[in-house]
Amino acid sequence: MTISASRAPLVSDARTRLVLLGTAGGPNWWLDDTRCGISSAVVVGDRYYVVDAGAGVGPQLRRARLGNWKSRLWGPLDGLRAIFVTHLHSDHVCDLNNLLGNGLANGLGLGGPVTVWGPGDRGQLPPARPGSSPSAVAPDSPTPGTSEMVESLLRTFATDYNDRLFEQGIEGTDGFITGRDVPIPQRYLADPNGDPHPRMSPVPFYEDDRVRVSATLVQHAPIFPALAFRFDTDDGSIVFSGDTGPSDNLVELACGADILVHEVIDGDWVAADFPSPRGPVDEAIYRHLVGKHTLIEDVGPIAERAGVPTLVLNHLVPATGPVQRWEQAQRGYSGRLVVGMDLDQLGVGA
Ligand SMILES: [Zn+2]
Repeated sequence: MTISASRAPLVSDARTRLVLLGTAGGPNWWLDDTRCGISSAVVVGDRYYVVDAGAGVGPQLRRARLGNWKSRLWGPLDGLRAIFVTHLHSDHVCDLNNLLGNGLANGLGLGGPVTVWGPGDRGQLPPARPGSSPSAVAPDSPTPGTSEMVESLLRTFATDYNDRLFEQGIEGTDGFITGRDVPIPQRYLADPNGDPHPRMSPVPFYEDDRVRVSATLVQHAPIFPALAFRFDTDDGSIVFSGDTGPSDNLVELACGADILVHEVIDGDWVAADFPSPRGPVDEAIYRHLVGKHTLIEDVGPIAERAGVPTLVLNHLVPATGPVQRWEQAQRGYSGRLVVGMDLDQLGVGA
């Protein structure tokens, strides 16, 4: 069964549910696009967790009626407990600073400290394309991980934070926003330029009274580490692929889950946009798009292997692609396919 995107957003009042906040893939500003940047939420009761913080995530939280949305000033971030970033490409983090900075005016921290979890420091620059010699940005620390990134954001925008904290006399904010690197075992991080990624089993790294979150490495070179996440709750499990080409690590992570939220790219569109013969720059982009993302033809069989009953497509590239193309992901998959759209809500469990 296929649920397409030419429809009203799916609704659910389940205690535990997936909310798609934004479903557009990539950093491009699509013409005539109706999708916000990539971001999702896992809701468990009156609390929620954000996965990736693409363009528009803040207002989308309110439109999705998460947290406290009836008060102009105190929500919706009062319900937010943690943010999980799959990888540090701009389309996944560009509104992180929006959540944190504007967050003080939207309830951030009212429900307790907020931790931002994501990949650690890459450790070294990616190899330059043969024949090129780019100069690195911030050469003293050119590949910061999530912990350093969040600390740098707080430092960079300290004038604003301190203005609001001191004017309003808000106390107890020491450590109210913290960045943490997901503790992938060091043996899997030894070669950041390795391609494909090392095979590994999921690593649980976060647990509270609502969710347990595990991570694994996925295939999105040259950016590294790139992560997929699994949320286990009392009601069921939701897995996010992050950006990845086909990955056995991801299949293992998703085994037995209730919902797999998987990225997808239209290979025909890529081929039409980057026709051969391609120059060296176009060739590098082309290879990244078709090799480090998952083609429509491949995503159904991946969900079938993982045995998940529901496959939700997100991070659609191009974000303006016709629904009929995405529906072809049903091939090779016997479960329920949802071509995701912004503000879809899908429950798990009762
Ligand atoms: Zn990416």
